[in-house]
Amino acid sequence: MSDPRLIVRHADITTLAVDAIVNAANSSLLGGGGVDGAIHRAAGPDLLAECRRLGGCLPGEAKVTLGYRLPAKWVIHTVGPVWTGAPHDDGMLAACYRNSLALARALPARTIAFPAISTGAYRFPRDRAAAIAVATVAEALAGDDVFTQVVFCCFDEASAQLHAQALANL
Ligand code: ADP
Repeated sequence: MSDPRLIVRHADITTLAVDAIVNAANSSLLGGGGVDGAIHRAAGPDLLAECRRLGGCLPGEAKVTLGYRLPAKWVIHTVGPVWTGAPHDDGMLAACYRNSLALARALPARTIAFPAISTGAYRFPRDRAAAIAVATVAEALAGDDVFTQVVFCCFDEASAQLHAQALANL
């Protein structure tokens, strides 16, 4: 049985009333397309102003800002790997989830939502990314008593199905 705190939602992450949402950012942290663009549009210009002060972010790492006009109090910006097919892609994607959760735990954020990091412009295979996302979060939550809910927020139904399947396979 998978951890009941792990759930899949088919939604726009900018609408979720969780403590923290995760942004699949690029290493400049200065905004981009996809979920990054949607988060910046919804949060407003103060988010970009705070991001400018962060000095970028390395792939696999994570940095936190406030959520400004978002329902979420915080945004955790992480930079996923661009898919190359090399063995280190998987480990770097897992690091995004682990490091985002570590930052969230310290805040503390009790509820957090992740987009499907690296599965858009960064071209990570969606089924492989879902399996890594779900396994990494499940492992990080074992023995954890801070988080009450972790949402895999999927923008399309196919992605939601892949995450639900990965959860069922745990
Ligand atoms: P990356 O560069 O890490 O691949 P993208 O933003 O291009 O990031 O895509 C990551 C995932 O986020 C994709 O699965 C895409 O469908 C999804 N996505 C795009 N917009 C949103 C949104 N508003 N809410 C949740 N997920 C989104």
